Amino acid sequence: MRRGAALRLSIALALAACGRAPGAPGAADIVFHGATVITMDEELPTADAVAIAGEHIVGVGSLADLRSLVGPETQLVDVSGTTIIPGINETHIHVRDLGFEQRTAVNLQPARNVADVQRLLRERLAELEREGRLGGWRYPPTGQVGPWLFGLAWTQDRLEERRMADRRELDAVSRDVPISLDRIYNGIAVNTRVFELLGIDFDNPATYPDWFRRDPPDFEAGDIIFRDPDTGLPNGVFMGTKAPLLVAPVIPEKTFEQTVESLVLGLEYLASLGITAVVEAGSRMGEVTRQYQAAYTAGRLPIRAVLYDGWYRSGDPDGIGDPARIRERLGALGFNNLGDHRFRVRGAKSSEDGGLGARSATVSAPYLPVPGDPLGARNRGMLREPDLARRSEQLRVLAEFGWELHVHAIGDVAIRRVVDIYKVLMDSIHAVRPDADLRWSIIHAYLPDEPGTSVIRDLADYGIIAAINPANLYYEGDSFVRNVGPERMTRHTPFRTFLEAGIRMASGSDYPNNSPDPWAGIYAMMTREIETSGEVHGPEQRIPFLDALRTFTLNGAYLTYDEDVRGSLEPGKLADLVVVDANLLEGAPAEILEMASRVLVTMVGGEIVYRRPDSEF
Ligand SMILES: [Zn+2]
Repeated sequence: MRRGAALRLSIALALAACGRAPGAPGAADIVFHGATVITMDEELPTADAVAIAGEHIVGVGSLADLRSLVGPETQLVDVSGTTIIPGINETHIHVRDLGFEQRTAVNLQPARNVADVQRLLRERLAELEREGRLGGWRYPPTGQVGPWLFGLAWTQDRLEERRMADRRELDAVSRDVPISLDRIYNGIAVNTRVFELLGIDFDNPATYPDWFRRDPPDFEAGDIIFRDPDTGLPNGVFMGTKAPLLVAPVIPEKTFEQTVESLVLGLEYLASLGITAVVEAGSRMGEVTRQYQAAYTAGRLPIRAVLYDGWYRSGDPDGIGDPARIRERLGALGFNNLGDHRFRVRGAKSSEDGGLGARSATVSAPYLPVPGDPLGARNRGMLREPDLARRSEQLRVLAEFGWELHVHAIGDVAIRRVVDIYKVLMDSIHAVRPDADLRWSIIHAYLPDEPGTSVIRDLADYGIIAAINPANLYYEGDSFVRNVGPERMTRHTPFRTFLEAGIRMASGSDYPNNSPDPWAGIYAMMTREIETSGEVHGPEQRIPFLDALRTFTLNGAYLTYDEDVRGSLEPGKLADLVVVDANLLEGAPAEILEMASRVLVTMVGGEIVYRRPDSEF
């Protein structure tokens, strides 16, 4: 990949190019030329020019091929040295906190040790104080308004200490401002001020709740209250599904307006990475739908979004589990696919198990024992709905109302279980409607090919999509290795196996569980490298750049039934594209990791939604 190939702009009036009058039908508004165009169109895989009129692509080929599309008003833009790719379709993300993270919270992913955590928090605290943006948060129990410092995206596995900063270390950042830091998945760390808001005084045992000395009896696999070794009292770090809820009641919630603002800012940030469409994986019972709708109605959605409606299980804040109530709700909703190419609600998401880093994904061979896991070598994770008949019924009701099914399943046992339910449902639908086009997916699909539970054959036969998060391997691989060992890691998200079996992979980041940078996902597919250790597990599962890119473009469009209108660069499709300051067909994989900063232009429907500030464009 050649570096520094500056974008050369030449708005050239094409003098007498083909004698068309201004605005003549068929003339393009803009023609990018001189680039390496990667189309994802099998009939014309590469080209060097793309012509756009209105919101559509009207021509792809060489500049000479496109001459007839150049009118007097056509902008001819010389983008020599760059690569143009179809806009990236990010197929699994929860955008809502992204703008908030950019502006207000602290992203702790870069931290390598506890001192880094403290430094990042101090820096943001100082910035927010300086700009007068620290306060204004309403504390739920009292209604009192005050400051709060939020953080997110930490995991102890990325820190040298292999543990998260405890309350005293956070007190060293601030004893007065409450601090709450969300783990990438299922966890929270808080300072002493948060305990005080809960009415707890460490010096006064009379204020201790029941869980202060002993774990609650309803804890599940992965639930941990980390405790001070000397006193046995909570040290401020909580992990699992239930443990973090113990401190949740005092954490401020954003106002609706703040959430919409965060969403829009987040989508703008995604555009800067080259993303032109997202699948928002879960409505949280309508909460997220309302945010998108507000942004859409105000004309503020910079990129496209398809939103999955969400159901999990009883008692989960994200959903309901009773099949009769699901039926009632779907009946009242009255639609299963509504919207347009900018924003659509389609498909339903639910979850089968937990996570591999959190040791709650359901696996056939137990997790390797680690200190702090009360289940020790017996831990095989948990199922969100252990009752198979009830689980099958939940999914059957969704399918009956016409919703496509997208189920989070990470451990091999959970994946096997979902695929078995899918097969029965798909067979029954196809018995009545043989041509039904069912694009259901397994979300995450980390361990699909374990001995005794492999679903590879079934995914291929039933056309079930693997909706994967390749960058998790890069960012979180070390914790996976510790939990399942190097042998199983060789089969973690087996890219090559999927590809050779003819299974469609559609890639997403699962932000906020990982960085939303799609280029890290492409890099992970090409290298299978783990960021922190540099280790490579399962090198035979690597796949080439173009195959990786397809999972982030055309296959993503296919997942949401949009492959006829986007996902590749072909005449007639929406002009969703990215101009990258590099030649992506040359150069070392390592350069892929820099591509987020080398996106020059992102275009959605012919409109430029991101332009790198220093680009001449
Ligand atoms: Zn997710």
